[in-house]
Amino acid sequence: MASFQKTFQVRTSEHNQVVDVTEQVRRVVAESKAELGQCAVFTPHATAAVTINENADPNIGADFMNALRKLIIEHDGWLHDRIDNNAAAHIKSALVGPSVVIPISAGELALGTWQNVFLCEFDGPRTRRVIVSVLS
Ligand code: ZN
Repeated sequence: MASFQKTFQVRTSEHNQVVDVTEQVRRVVAESKAELGQCAVFTPHATAAVTINENADPNIGADFMNALRKLIIEHDGWLHDRIDNNAAAHIKSALVGPSVVIPISAGELALGTWQNVFLCEFDGPRTRRVIVSVLS
């Protein structure tokens, strides 16, 4: 079992935003030289998340953010808002989750044709870290 790990940063520009990080993840997998294995993509932040979604229409990202905004209403009496006023961001982060695992086949991410990897920002703009771990 070989392991390889790299961290990259993403500077977000909006309060709620999806950022396509697929190319950065692909570069780490290529650098790892792994042929067969798994790639974990993780963000170590309590108000951000990582997900996989359609890559062709950027409106999917906007729709996803709008759906979460409708589900988790900002400042809806959340107890944590008394601390630093970002409870909705924490709830969205927990629901979407901090990581995804993608198989690596023939040295490539085994994503579907319509799948890309996205960092989700829920309390931006901020600088976010993304840790990519390759096991092969
Ligand atoms: Zn908070």
